[in-house]
Amino acid sequence: MKLIRYNGDDGARIGLVAGENVNLLGNGDMRELMAKEAEPNRSGVVKPLSRLQTLPPLIPGKILAIGRNYAEHARELDNEVPSEPLVFAVMPSAVIGDGDVIEWESALTSQVDWEGELAVIIGKTARRVSQADALDYVFGYTIANDVSARDLQTRDKQWTRAKGLDTFCPLGPVIVTADEIPDPQNLRIVTNVDGVEKQNGSTADMIFSVSHLIAHLSRAFTLNPGDVILTGTPSGVGKAMNPPEFLGQGSVVSVEIEGIGVLTNSCRVL
Ligand code: ZN
Repeated sequence: MKLIRYNGDDGARIGLVAGENVNLLGNGDMRELMAKEAEPNRSGVVKPLSRLQTLPPLIPGKILAIGRNYAEHARELDNEVPSEPLVFAVMPSAVIGDGDVIEWESALTSQVDWEGELAVIIGKTARRVSQADALDYVFGYTIANDVSARDLQTRDKQWTRAKGLDTFCPLGPVIVTADEIPDPQNLRIVTNVDGVEKQNGSTADMIFSVSHLIAHLSRAFTLNPGDVILTGTPSGVGKAMNPPEFLGQGSVVSVEIEGIGVLTNSCRVL
């Protein structure tokens, strides 16, 4: 299934995407839908996708993110390739949806960078799961942009502000359920800024696979339905360009992942 959340007449709705159309499944609580064993009933209400205002596919419980999970990206920023996953947290309040605006104050940061990433949505409570069983806990996959204020990232020594500012975690627009992506380690991921390709990688190049990350994280935290894992970004971020490139007023950044879709956001500097 390809699922979206969208603005209904009186609140959020969940819809099943079928080509150009969306079939209403119910109210907008993605966790409620995750808890159901059977495939949800389709209502008779069908709307054209292009007419709907989409919302983030869910508001995550927690967002666990992984730094330097692609060797070439670690190298492009002169970082060592990590020997175990480098884990950090992103604020759920940073989440926005497809078409929403990434915004920041010029007084706060002037080095806002893109990071296209595969996002994993946890569907079942996971605690100390084995890597062999780990993918059984995945509800589905979506697209994330781990927007990063590089100046804050350097100055703060840790990344809470740099990656957690309001609007800095675009997610969506669709969740593709795990049954449709049996192998998450073979997906092309491309980031464009103002129509120019900046990142073009494959999830095959992750250092630590999705199953490895779930097993690793579940030894530290109970993973709950609705938690999200950002799996790291391939090479081609703006800071690594010569000279460095950053997002600015009116920039449009889109992240496309094969089999999932495209996440597009424009930028506003306040
Ligand atoms: Zn990242």
